[in-house]
Amino acid sequence: MPRTSAKRLSLRAACIAVAAFTTVAVTAGVAWAAYTDNMYPTQYLTVGCFSVSGPHQSGFCQTDNKDLTYYMDSGGSNKLEAGDRSVVNNVMNNIYEPTDLSVTYDSSPSFSGSAETDIVFEESSSGLSSSVDGYTFCNNAATTLKCDQQYIRIRGGGHYGQGLVCHETGHAVGLTHGDDASPRKSRTDEKLGCMETPVSNDEGLQANNIENINATY
Ligand SMILES: [Zn+2]
Repeated sequence: MPRTSAKRLSLRAACIAVAAFTTVAVTAGVAWAAYTDNMYPTQYLTVGCFSVSGPHQSGFCQTDNKDLTYYMDSGGSNKLEAGDRSVVNNVMNNIYEPTDLSVTYDSSPSFSGSAETDIVFEESSSGLSSSVDGYTFCNNAATTLKCDQQYIRIRGGGHYGQGLVCHETGHAVGLTHGDDASPRKSRTDEKLGCMETPVSNDEGLQANNIENINATY
């Protein structure tokens, strides 16, 4: 079962540590009567988007535009096995592509410049605290709101499941947990779909997450 409580703790710690210089203004957010606005930033989550080198002390970001490219590490110690790749492709093609995001696999990924591959999936436990199975972090912030390239690191041993991949990809496009949404919701509210925490393996986006994505991109 994915557990993300330690991530929350580290986010809180990061918030305290960097609040003096990277908090972002909370704009109007989602204008219609959504069940809840869980698109970053919300009035409860303003930590800022900034670059880090690993899964720790991370900020929170939207992706930098609606064209969402992704790559799966294909060699070396962090590569995804065939089964993991199948899960990721299913989530991207059948859960995120039907939203207003335009999702494509980038078989020639870019890791520098101003138009990097947006999401890089890795299978690794490096830098993950023992209570965390997955973590999303930005390594090239474009602004204090948006990131040009984010890494999704998920530990091996069968943790690459639909629910967790959907959850971490949700973070990469700006979706928050329930207790950071406005109005606040339980972290286990069923209407949060795969942004519930802990998340079960069969979860997808559901209506509220899709509305927030489509209002943003
Ligand atoms: Zn999470």
